[in-house]
Amino acid sequence: MVDLEVERRFFGIRLDTALSEVLTHTQFIRGPEVQKFAQELGQYLGGISVIPCANGTDALQLALMALDLKPGDAVMVPAFTYVATAEVAALLKLEVRWVDVSLEHFNLLPEALEQAWSPRVKAIVPVHLFGQSAPMKEIMEFAQTKGIAVIEDAAQALGTDYIFSTRESKKVGTIGDIGCTSFFPSKNLGCYGDGGAVFTASSERAARIARIANHGQDTLYEFTEVGINSRLDTLQAAILRLKLPYLDEFNSRRRAAADLYDSQFQNIPQLQTPVRVPWSTHIFHQYTLRVLDGRRDQLRAYLAERGIPAMVYYPKPLHLQPAYYNPDYPEGSFPNAERLSREVLSLPMHPFLSESQLSYITETVRRFFR
Ligand SMILES: *Cc1c(COP(=O)(O)O)cnc(C)c1O
Repeated sequence: MVDLEVERRFFGIRLDTALSEVLTHTQFIRGPEVQKFAQELGQYLGGISVIPCANGTDALQLALMALDLKPGDAVMVPAFTYVATAEVAALLKLEVRWVDVSLEHFNLLPEALEQAWSPRVKAIVPVHLFGQSAPMKEIMEFAQTKGIAVIEDAAQALGTDYIFSTRESKKVGTIGDIGCTSFFPSKNLGCYGDGGAVFTASSERAARIARIANHGQDTLYEFTEVGINSRLDTLQAAILRLKLPYLDEFNSRRRAAADLYDSQFQNIPQLQTPVRVPWSTHIFHQYTLRVLDGRRDQLRAYLAERGIPAMVYYPKPLHLQPAYYNPDYPEGSFPNAERLSREVLSLPMHPFLSESQLSYITETVRRFFR
């Protein structure tokens, strides 16, 4: 699905240099690269505070902890996403209220927000799934009307622009109260291990989040609140500093690969190619098709037999997962999420797909439907 070996060759000796600088100064924890990377990413995002942490799941946990939610408070989460979003809410003893998603863009369905609402809800966590922004105007208006916080999960959308009706744009993760991302190796900006970050426009909130990520420690051995231990390694920060200047270029290479997929699949009525919404750019963390004729699993097996990996993100919506099952939300509660889990198939997608790889993949998919 991704090719980290070609990427490694692309960066070549520059990676070795970046790593050996850290090996020389030996500040493996809180080394200078960590703060430098945080500043550079903050600038890239339009001038915002960035708090690096250990992974994207921790970023979401830190964001929720910084809102001072109490056990029993509720958060609204899409039913069709990666589990991390719901997991941290459950760990903090918050009630999860699922929201159905759009069959078109896979993100939160604005019409479904009101139905998921309860007076216990204190926050909503839109996820910018597969690289495209959730409908933030509707979500922000809903949150403002209800007086709740918005935490954006931008783990799959670092570099995506949300486009306002005025044509102005903002990077996703910087629109709500707090943004979160992950630097897992396969993410659009990935390191070579685990990493994550939290974004906020408020410097006070940034200081608070940094404190929570550091055991709730205010000054040395002075613990003002219960925190966690969540840090980005210096070695990972050094890799991320090298890769950040290439993020936009890599994202546009993904877009070019997606354009090619689109053009090759447009005449296959059994396939729905990814819908590109007018309010967002698309950085194609995943290129996700809907297979409309019920043969998704056959297509996947057919591709696998011919050496092409294809993945199902995600095969079961969260409200039907045993760990999160709540009898208030039986099967049928979120029909779009359930339908997508049966229809979606993601094809290989990364910045280094060659023309011959792309034509082999598209030809094989076309042959399946002939
Ligand atoms: C990857 C991902 C996360 C979690 O990131 P980790 O770094 O693996 O903890 C959270 N949310 C979404 C939507 C993701 O894709």
